[in-house]
Amino acid sequence: MKADREVWKAVEQEIASRITDHQFKTWFRSVRFSFSSPESVSVSVPNRFYQTFLSHRFLSVIQESIETVTNLNQPRIEFQVEGDDPREVLAAAPEAPSPRSGNGNGTRSGSAVVPAAEAADPLRDVPANQPLNPGYTFDQFVVGPSNRLAHAAAVAVSENPGSTYNPLFLYGSVGLGKTHLMEAVAHTFLARGQRRFAYLSCATFTNDFIAAVQNHDLDRFRDKYRRADALLIDDIQFLAGKERTQDEFFHTFNAVYGDGKQIFLSSDSLPSDIAGLGDRLASRFRLGLVAQLEPPSLETRIAILMRKAENMELQISDDVAHFVAERITDNIREIQGAVVRMHSLVTIEGRSITVETVRDALSDLFGDESSRIDPLAIQQAVLQEFDVRPADLHSRKRNRSIVVPRQICMYLTRKLTNLSLEQIGQYFGGRDHSTVLHAIEKIEAKLAEDERIRRAVKTITSHLGH
Ligand code: ADP
Ligand code: MG
Repeated sequence: MKADREVWKAVEQEIASRITDHQFKTWFRSVRFSFSSPESVSVSVPNRFYQTFLSHRFLSVIQESIETVTNLNQPRIEFQVEGDDPREVLAAAPEAPSPRSGNGNGTRSGSAVVPAAEAADPLRDVPANQPLNPGYTFDQFVVGPSNRLAHAAAVAVSENPGSTYNPLFLYGSVGLGKTHLMEAVAHTFLARGQRRFAYLSCATFTNDFIAAVQNHDLDRFRDKYRRADALLIDDIQFLAGKERTQDEFFHTFNAVYGDGKQIFLSSDSLPSDIAGLGDRLASRFRLGLVAQLEPPSLETRIAILMRKAENMELQISDDVAHFVAERITDNIREIQGAVVRMHSLVTIEGRSITVETVRDALSDLFGDESSRIDPLAIQQAVLQEFDVRPADLHSRKRNRSIVVPRQICMYLTRKLTNLSLEQIGQYFGGRDHSTVLHAIEKIEAKLAEDERIRRAVKTITSHLGH
């Protein structure tokens, strides 16, 4: 028995020398070998998924390693599944036979040796990449608290594909920068001369799969995706309810991931919230890092707006930037739209950019402005909530009991009316716009950390019918 163990150690070393570290760690750490008879070798694996995978991807490696160490000629390899997981059986079942890897249905005869991949043009048969938007690069991406983790993870993936965060799963609602980050990774690959990656939308993957089924061309389809050095698939929520495509993607995922190659997916929701996505896929998606893109804060929106304006060589004042960023809160694409609109305001209509012209020209982006509220109503609602006199709100008194309600007034006036920072400053005792800005930022910060303020603002806005 001791001899056995030494033999297996040597076999393991031999296997390790033939594949990458990542592959070895992922697939061979929980595998045990033993001789079941003089000419057959039993490979004990934790579940059927391993069995399918090992027999598809590493059979020849296992076999050749055993041959090298033991001088056995074509040993029979029998897989033994330790814990049978019925889900994994289902998972393994739909994999169609492929000429490269045999049927994958359990015990395989050792005589089917898998040929080494033939040398080929490196780009041949890798899926065609979607064209990249030239502006979707890392240096055009404005980083803030809402996207810091997602950005850092994407940068790490672009620098060390397949090692740090694998898979990387980014999710967030529309217009928050998922595609931008994915393309930024693709741009980085290209800039380094790495061209053998696949970047495509999930819809393209699905259509390609359906075409392959119709043309009886599945082997080529599979090969193509599995050859890519990294797989970047956008809007993976598109797999919802598509059972066959999911099955296929499951196998693609396993093959690519098993080879230690990078997988980067984006989605509009968490893996567990994609309707009709099987557990097995959802749990694969969680193997690496799941990072959320959140709606950007006011500060980040302003920074994005300024950046986009700068790119178009458009000058906008802080006040206008604030005015716009405050009204476009949850889709960065609309910020881009606003900048384009402001640009044409200047270049086509020959007007200048002020809060007034922008309010007029961009009103449809801001939603229904007529539902905005009279500043007096805001004051009254605030006075109802706090024990201060109307005159105090407009005074220059600075005690906390007055400052906080006054700041809330300014904050809500800005939020719920069309008044500019200057106008609000005028209204509240002739203060300048930076004081108003400061007040708004103070309240925004307090809303995040002070339960009492949060409750007060909530009560006030509900009195105002918002
Ligand atoms: P998603 O794929 O999440 O729907 P996109 O990546 O298409 O969103 O982003 C929508 C628009 O917003 C694009 O024009 C993109 O460049 C821009 N954008 C998103 N996030 C940022 C950011 N942090 N900095 C600069 N531009 C951004
Ligand atoms: Mg997108």
